[in-house]
Amino acid sequence: MRYLSTRDKETKTTASGAITMGLSRDGGLFVPEQLPRISRKSLESMCGMNYRQRAVFIMNQFLDDFTSAEITLFCEKAYSSMNFDDPGVAPLHKVDEKTSFMELWHGPTCAFKDMALQILPYLLTASLDKVGEDKEVCILVATSGDTGKAALEGFKDVDRTKILVFYPRDGVSDIQKLQMVTQEGGNVGVCAVKGNFDDAQNGVKSIFSDEELREILAGRGYFLSSANSINWGRLLPQIVYYFSAYCDMVKNGSIVFGDEIHFSVPTGNFGDILAGYYAKCMGLPIGRLICASNENNVLTDFINTGVYDRNRTFHTTISPSMDILISSNLERLLFELTGREDELVAHYMKELSQYGKYEITNLMQERLVRDFSGYFCDDEKTKLVIRAAFKKFGYLIDPHTAVAYDALNHYRHDTQDDTPAVVVSTASPYKFCDSVLDALGDKSGAKGLDLIDRLSEVTKTAAPKPLTSLRAKTVRFDVSVDKEQMRTVVEKILQ
Ligand SMILES: *Cc1c(COP(=O)(O)O)cnc(C)c1O
Repeated sequence: MRYLSTRDKETKTTASGAITMGLSRDGGLFVPEQLPRISRKSLESMCGMNYRQRAVFIMNQFLDDFTSAEITLFCEKAYSSMNFDDPGVAPLHKVDEKTSFMELWHGPTCAFKDMALQILPYLLTASLDKVGEDKEVCILVATSGDTGKAALEGFKDVDRTKILVFYPRDGVSDIQKLQMVTQEGGNVGVCAVKGNFDDAQNGVKSIFSDEELREILAGRGYFLSSANSINWGRLLPQIVYYFSAYCDMVKNGSIVFGDEIHFSVPTGNFGDILAGYYAKCMGLPIGRLICASNENNVLTDFINTGVYDRNRTFHTTISPSMDILISSNLERLLFELTGREDELVAHYMKELSQYGKYEITNLMQERLVRDFSGYFCDDEKTKLVIRAAFKKFGYLIDPHTAVAYDALNHYRHDTQDDTPAVVVSTASPYKFCDSVLDALGDKSGAKGLDLIDRLSEVTKTAAPKPLTSLRAKTVRFDVSVDKEQMRTVVEKILQ
């Protein structure tokens, strides 16, 4: 199967080419030439498989320059019981007849980024071999929290790779910071940047576009790559769990095979929900995709008006992984909404970078709302939802998941449509202990790792091992630099 650039359909490459390059030279994102159809019969047989087998089945459809044996090996390693503490990998938690939560946080870093970043290193290193690249790859990441840790865990001690993560010194939670600065592995580096997430991200971007540095590094046998969510190798593994959730909804008796279900997805960069859209295009019986945002509600407005406008105040919220005003993966949806008109996509993206704004046609908006609904939820409401869900179901959810649950409730209230639905749960509540404790009305004032014990005490739930074990770990990285020094850090590490 070939992959095309969203901004120039004539730019075509293989799956391994797309995964190696990440982004097309013209600035576009790679999309499959056509989406494979999964027949009713195949879906039925998927219901009898475990998560790893489902992953192999779906990924096989897209990666035809990989052997089935390779994909099987990668899935077995990535989604092993060593890495995921639940045998279902992405299990459903059913709270009532119509509603289940899909828990995507049973991996090593307790957030859904693990679903893709546990397997990406295998896909990437195999892709390098396939395209004949013999340099060592250095992954550079700027993170607002979850991605950095998940990328570190995925790439640690992977042959022929190094990984270097920059995080904003004052922009991540205590627990997220500890997770990163105690990272183990011989090929990893972590560095704080004095500034906010944008400073870290701009620093990384300018390193990527620094041709002189690239040449120096190439001379030393390195090339730079990124692990961010526009890489096809990150999107593809996410399609799997929509299929998996569907099968599990059949198995837990919420639906009979063939019925439609809705998904509500907490959305930032539009990667997660886009994977759901692709699953729907592949024939999975999905009704609506509910796009849930926090106060940074640029996508809610886009769905409801057809105008994408990033010219607005940026809010720092208690669901920080969704504090985003430019959702990069939306470009892939635009490609489909335009009927795959690459020039039109390029035009919208140019308007976005020039004016921070674009407006799609009426026809495109009609297509958009055929599949998507959009809602948003502010911090106050998010806390109320966490508290209410715990009270009603004894089920503890994190702020991102709460935003999605609220969106589903809104949708049901607006439409009186009570089709069974899955709320995509993207982080363990223990990753955001302070906000969750606050939501539950706890005033203990605990700090740092004590927050984990406190949350466990208050809710009588068990904290995930990767977080409780942080206490015993040593801090390995305590450097912080000005953003102008980031380039020097890269040069030093890649000697
Ligand atoms: C990254 C992230 C999201 C948003 O996912 P996108 O693919 O960027 O839309 C939601 N919740 C959590 C916890 C995340 O880490």
